[in-house]
Amino acid sequence: MASKKLKLRVFSLGGLGEIGKNITVFEYGEDIIVVDCGVSFPEDDMLGIDLVIPDFTYLIRNKDRVRGVFFTHGHEDHIGSVPYFLREIDAPLFGTKLTLGLIDIKLREHGLDRKTKCVCVTPGEKVQCGRITAEFIRVTHSIPDACAIAVSTPNNLTCVVTGDFKVDFTPIHDQKMDLQRFAELGKRGVDLLLCESTNVEAKGYTMSERTVGGIFENIFNESRDQRLIIATFSSNIHRIQQIIDSAAGHGRKVAVIGRSMINTVKCAIDLNYIDAPKDIMIEPGEIKRYTDGQLVIITTGTQGEPMSALSRMAASEHRLVDIHPGDKIVISASSIPGNEKSIGRVINELMKRGAEVLYEGLMDVHVSGHGKQEEIKLMHALTSPKFLMPIHGEFRHLKRHRDLAIGLGMPKENIFLMSIGEVLELTPDGAKVTGTVPAGQVLVDGLGVGDVGNIVLRDRKHLSQDGLIIVVVSIDRSSGQIIAGPDIISRGFVYVRENEDMMDETRKAINEALSRRHERRYTEWSYIKTTIKDTVKGYVWHKTKRSPMILPIIMEV
Ligand SMILES: [Zn+2]
Ligand SMILES: [Zn+2]
Repeated sequence: MASKKLKLRVFSLGGLGEIGKNITVFEYGEDIIVVDCGVSFPEDDMLGIDLVIPDFTYLIRNKDRVRGVFFTHGHEDHIGSVPYFLREIDAPLFGTKLTLGLIDIKLREHGLDRKTKCVCVTPGEKVQCGRITAEFIRVTHSIPDACAIAVSTPNNLTCVVTGDFKVDFTPIHDQKMDLQRFAELGKRGVDLLLCESTNVEAKGYTMSERTVGGIFENIFNESRDQRLIIATFSSNIHRIQQIIDSAAGHGRKVAVIGRSMINTVKCAIDLNYIDAPKDIMIEPGEIKRYTDGQLVIITTGTQGEPMSALSRMAASEHRLVDIHPGDKIVISASSIPGNEKSIGRVINELMKRGAEVLYEGLMDVHVSGHGKQEEIKLMHALTSPKFLMPIHGEFRHLKRHRDLAIGLGMPKENIFLMSIGEVLELTPDGAKVTGTVPAGQVLVDGLGVGDVGNIVLRDRKHLSQDGLIIVVVSIDRSSGQIIAGPDIISRGFVYVRENEDMMDETRKAINEALSRRHERRYTEWSYIKTTIKDTVKGYVWHKTKRSPMILPIIMEV
C-alpha cells in the first residue's frame, strides 16, 4: 500500500481516566511502537495486590510487529510494568541513560537483564523503528533525563507525546527544556499532541524545584542539634540532590532507608545523576555512631504506606530508627488523593513520640513535577497541534484539559477525550475514533520481595479482609491430564453453598485455562499454579471486586 494511504493508529492501554500505568501505542502499517510501560498501585480495597499493570493482549497478539518501547522518563507509572511486558514480548527498549539505569534494576530483579536489548539515547536523538521515527526531546520534570517523544511517519504525520513535564527555567541539573524544538515541530506542523494533564486544574505555574532547596536550607539552619528525617518519593532525584547538598553544607552524614530509595539513589549516584561528596553517604547500620545533629535520614513513606520505613518508625517498629523527642521529620511530597487518612495517622504517631513534623500545608517543602495551566498552555502554543488527546489524568483532568484547549481557540471537534483501548486513526486528511482494542487492568501479586515480616503481615491483613480460596487439582503424572477437580474450598470469602454458580464458573474458567496449557505443553507446577491463581483472581475480581488469597494445591498421582 502506498504510504500516503497508510493510517497512523494511536491508542493508550493505560493512563486515561486514571493516574498511573501510562502506555501509548502507535501503529503504522506493519510497524508498532510503544511509548512508556507503567504500573499503577493498587487501591485500598485491593489488599494482597502489589501492582496493577496494563492489559497487553493487543500487543501480545501482534508481538512480531512491535519494534520497540520508548520511555519518556524513569518514574514507576512509566516504566514499572516493563518486566511483565518483556515476559510476553521481545522488543528493544529505548531511553535516556538514567531511565535505562532505573529500568535495569527491574530487569535484574526479574532475571531479564541479559536477554533484553537496551539502547541508550541522548535527548535530541532520533530513532528509526520500521517506518516510524521517534525523536527524544528534553523536558524538565522531577527526575533528570526526562523527555517528550515526537513520533513521525513517512506520510508526514507527526504526534508529540509530552511525557510528564513542567517548565522549570532553573532546573537542578542544568538540563534545560528544549523549548525551541517544540516550536520547530509546531512550525512544521504537529498533527496530534498527547499532553499530560496531571495539574491542569491548577492555575498559574509550578514553582521551580530550586525553591525547595531554599526551604531546606532554612530547616537545616534551624535544626542544629536535631536529627533530620526527610521522607520523599524515591524517584524524586532532584529533591534528594538538594537534601544531600544541604547536608554537605552543614556537615551532616546522609543515610538512606527503604528498599526503593536505596536502589534509586545508588543507581543515580553510579550514573552521576546525584552528586554526593565523598564519605557523606553512610550505611543505615552506622546511624548509631553519629549524634542527632550529625545526621540526615532520607526515607520513603510519604503516602503513609503501612509497610514503608516512615510508617514503621512511627509505629516504633523500625529496626534501626527509634523516633525520639527532638527529631524533626519533613514529609516532602504532596498527598495523593485517597491517602490523606493514612498520612494523618503517621503524622499523629510521629508527634506522639515527641517528634516535630513538617509537611505540605505547614511549609513549602514540596513542589510538583507537573506543569500547571500556564505551562500546559505554553506547550499548546509552541506545538500548535491540529488535534489534541489529553493523557495522564483522571477523567476530570482530561475534561478540564479539553476546556483549556477550547479556551485557546481549538475547535471542540479536534479534541479527543479517549478511554483506554479506543483507537484514534490519523491520516493526512484528519482524525477519527474508529474502534477499540482490548484494554483493562491486570492485577499482580507475590513479587517475592520484602522481608518475611512484611509478607506475614500482608497475608494476615489479606486473609482478614478478603478471605481464602483453595483450589485442589489432581494431575496424572505421565500425561499431565487433570484426573480430579478442580475442587474449590473457600473460607471467609463467600459462603460456597449460596454461591454455587460462581464456584461453577470459576471451575470452568480454571479448566479452560489449564486446557490451553496442553497446547503449550507446559507441565511444570509453577506454571500450573500461576495459571490457576491468575485465572481465579481475574474471575473473582471481575465478579466481586474482591481479591481473596488463592492457594492452589496440585496433586500428582
Ligand atoms: Zn513522572
Ligand atoms: Zn507520570
